[in-house]
Amino acid sequence: MPESSTRGEWRPSIAEQEWPVVLAETLDPTLESFVDGSGDPATDFPIQNLPLGSFSTHADQAPRLGVAIGGSVLDLKAVVEAGVLGDLPGEVRCALSAGSLNDYLRLGRPRWIATRLALSRLLRRDSPTLRDRADRDRLLRPRSAVRMHVPARIGDYTDFYASLHHATNVGSMFRPDNPLMPNWKHLPVGYHGRASSIIPSGMAVRRPHGQVLPPTASSPIWSPTRSLDYELELGFLVGPGNPLGRRIPVAEAIDHLHGIVLVNDWSARDVQAWEYQPLGPFNAKNFATSVSPWVVSFEALAPFLVAGPPRAADDPAPLAYLVRPDDFLPNLQLEVALSTSATRRDSSPSFVLSRGGYGSMYWSPSQMVAHHTSTGCNLQPGDLLASGTISGPNEESRGCLLERTWRGKNPLRLPDGSERSFLLDGDEVVMRGWCERPGFRRIGLGECRGEVLPAE
Ligand code: CA
Repeated sequence: MPESSTRGEWRPSIAEQEWPVVLAETLDPTLESFVDGSGDPATDFPIQNLPLGSFSTHADQAPRLGVAIGGSVLDLKAVVEAGVLGDLPGEVRCALSAGSLNDYLRLGRPRWIATRLALSRLLRRDSPTLRDRADRDRLLRPRSAVRMHVPARIGDYTDFYASLHHATNVGSMFRPDNPLMPNWKHLPVGYHGRASSIIPSGMAVRRPHGQVLPPTASSPIWSPTRSLDYELELGFLVGPGNPLGRRIPVAEAIDHLHGIVLVNDWSARDVQAWEYQPLGPFNAKNFATSVSPWVVSFEALAPFLVAGPPRAADDPAPLAYLVRPDDFLPNLQLEVALSTSATRRDSSPSFVLSRGGYGSMYWSPSQMVAHHTSTGCNLQPGDLLASGTISGPNEESRGCLLERTWRGKNPLRLPDGSERSFLLDGDEVVMRGWCERPGFRRIGLGECRGEVLPAE
């Protein structure tokens, strides 16, 4: 392995010639794997993706790390034990044998790139090491037969508010004359969320109770929320992080982000409307946050980074600590679909609630990291930074029902004739994200799925 070229600094660039040679090797669109389903043009997980996650099996319920490839999961603990991962250092092999990603996230980008290269070489069609092993089925399991977990122990979760369209839409519902607060275009607004209630895709969400002020009442009641909503977001999983008291400069911020997941920041809008002033959301958002289980690395995303974020000519220039001249956004396509208990029973198609992309976000992941740590606040491996609701310029690209139905005023009509202002019991929300670009293999994030259960 050309170890020397995996060391040193790596900066994402939209200019291919600046990628390290070993990274370019793993992104080659002509690479194929021997694993079933990995060559399907529609798969989220070709050999060019190689996302990591934490899974367990029915027979062994202890979580362990795996890599998604086609319709399979490569069991990394078993792979390390089999000794087929080349000459990766001991600390990498140790981290890959753990039950969650935290130790791996701590290692940093040169180690992530070396691991990616070793996995890519192991899984190629012309590589016999794993392909021809008699016990291959023990190392590669069907994805349909494993249970996925939250990929890391998330110590802290921060939620930003980085979409100009979302902030403007929501602001204009509550403050028609003054939708954007004076600070909004100067800093990436965020709040500290709740980590203990982050759950994996597939786990159902119980409709929460909360304190709400009915429209014509003068005092609040306590009841199940009547305006349960989803928020389509992207989550960034923190890598090495910073010691308390030391800032992360915006130019180095990407070194501290390993990869991305889909996030559904479930929200009780009636609870939120009553409680949010003056300190922001609290119980309206602390009952559940769903994440997709496969972490797609920035190495896999390298071909899909675009220059950004966009700024209008008359927007204020950000302060210097937020400026990276070659800043970037991952150029993802995103979709939210809804199925009801009836459509699932009849096997009818789900209804697409919104379609959009990440390229119009106003604040970049680098700016979120630089701003978050500008006080010396320490980020730690496995922390989750979420983007805030991803809304684009048109109605269909709005990333939550609050915006899609304009606070319930314009309900959506579903193909089965029913209407939605907010989510009903039995509704299931499915988020998907993927990247496409001519000359590269399509990669995807998989799904972030959650069904609404009735209040208890
Ligand atoms: Ca949110």
